[in-house]
Amino acid sequence: MNCLFCAIVAGEIPASTVMETERVLAFNDINPQSPTHVLVIPKSHYENVAELSKSDPVSLSELFDVADQIASKNALTGYRTVFNTGADAGQTVFHAHLHLLGGRALQWPPG
Ligand code: AMP
Ligand code: ZN
Repeated sequence: MNCLFCAIVAGEIPASTVMETERVLAFNDINPQSPTHVLVIPKSHYENVAELSKSDPVSLSELFDVADQIASKNALTGYRTVFNTGADAGQTVFHAHLHLLGGRALQWPPG
């Protein structure tokens, strides 16, 4: 399987790791949209959050727990978590990932 985030999990492509657990890896987004922009991913491959939810709800829950821990470490006063599902929603990497965004006032609605 040719998957960028599996390659990062395998250590074949470098990433700026923020936090790691047995099931989950968190690293800085290469093209940050806010001062904190961390991707939190399951180490196992699932195409999107729907597949992750059906197959491994424990890991899905852990993504949110890890995101909240990173938000606390970064002293974020608020943060947004986003899963893009499908190309029309802006998904470009088809390995489920949570975007953790914070560190500036975030617009709502996002557009
Ligand atoms: P999405 O558009 O929701 O699929 O999000 C994919 C994210 O992966 C984008 O925000 C990219 O900036 C980010 N990205 C792509 N390649 C890398 C990489 N090598 N290291 C870290 N983040 C990456
Ligand atoms: Zn993958």
